[in-house]
Amino acid sequence: MTVTLAHILAAAANIRGRADATPLVPSPFLRHATGQDVLLKLEIAQPIGAFKLRGALNALALLPEGAQGVTCCSTGNHGRGVAWAARARGLRAVVCMSDLVPQAKVAGIRALGAEVRIIGRSQDAAQAEVRRLVAAEGLAEIPPFDDAAVIAGQGTIGLELLTARPDLDTLLIPLSGGGLAAGIAVAARAIKPGIRLIGVTMERGAAMQAALAAGHPVEVAEVASLADSLGGGIGLDNRLSFPLCRDLLDEVVLVSEAEIYHAVQVLFYEDRLVAEGASVVGLAACLSGKVRLEGPAATVITGRNLDMGQFLAVVTGQDVTLGETVVKGRAYGA
Ligand SMILES: *Cc1c(COP(=O)(O)O)cnc(C)c1O
Repeated sequence: MTVTLAHILAAAANIRGRADATPLVPSPFLRHATGQDVLLKLEIAQPIGAFKLRGALNALALLPEGAQGVTCCSTGNHGRGVAWAARARGLRAVVCMSDLVPQAKVAGIRALGAEVRIIGRSQDAAQAEVRRLVAAEGLAEIPPFDDAAVIAGQGTIGLELLTARPDLDTLLIPLSGGGLAAGIAVAARAIKPGIRLIGVTMERGAAMQAALAAGHPVEVAEVASLADSLGGGIGLDNRLSFPLCRDLLDEVVLVSEAEIYHAVQVLFYEDRLVAEGASVVGLAACLSGKVRLEGPAATVITGRNLDMGQFLAVVTGQDVTLGETVVKGRAYGA
């Protein structure tokens, strides 16, 4: 089984009017900095503040009849998407996560009526609780990225990007478990085979990058990052998102915490947008010179469900402590 353009077109019909048609806006600052048009796909405008609603709505639309409810593990935004989609269908939702997830995200999920279970220090422990709920309580699992329906839902972003701008030369896609990158890549390669597709993630704990380097999924220690939504493994039993990323992405670029810090400031001060660290890795890749653009480019501003204390620290140039490391503060423009 894999994901094709046909699955993504079907997903577009399933989510229409609820999680599609987010704005695509130019960044004049990035155009000045790179010499190319850089467009921002604003998934922060989704009702849950992140793109994950696309995959969750599509997965629930394809749920077998008679499901008792749904469960998932999540770094936050997937849980929020599943909670929103389940509430819309009047289904019970149980979201399991590790204690690395920021408090703001936990509260957001509870506010949508879902049950939240905080289990241990890693996504793997949360995943074990999901398996237990499926076996013991008859809930259907909605995986965060390694699932055909979820990947097809996220892939609708690729359709929207290339419908709006067929001239796009490069897509910079934030990369964690790879559901977003796999979905966009399936759509984009089908519509425009020669397009340049770059996954971007943080240096610290880059699970997909480690898997691609090894040729198979590997265990990666989970560490705190400004891009907290990009944390977590890809699953040692990964079936879909790993092979799709391996086969369809041209390259994966890694950005440092200092580069993410700076890109959050750029997006705020230059474009007046508030977004999570995970959202700005595409900008960071351009601003650092790690990616050179040769034509119009787009990146996905994936979510805005950030920790406000941490965001305020970044935009005011304060140090940010992440577990054992400190990202050195620097005032914007200093
Ligand atoms: C989930 C998420 C990502 C990464 O998506 P994957 O499908 O796991 O690669 C990026 N940004 C935000 C805000 C997310 O919530």
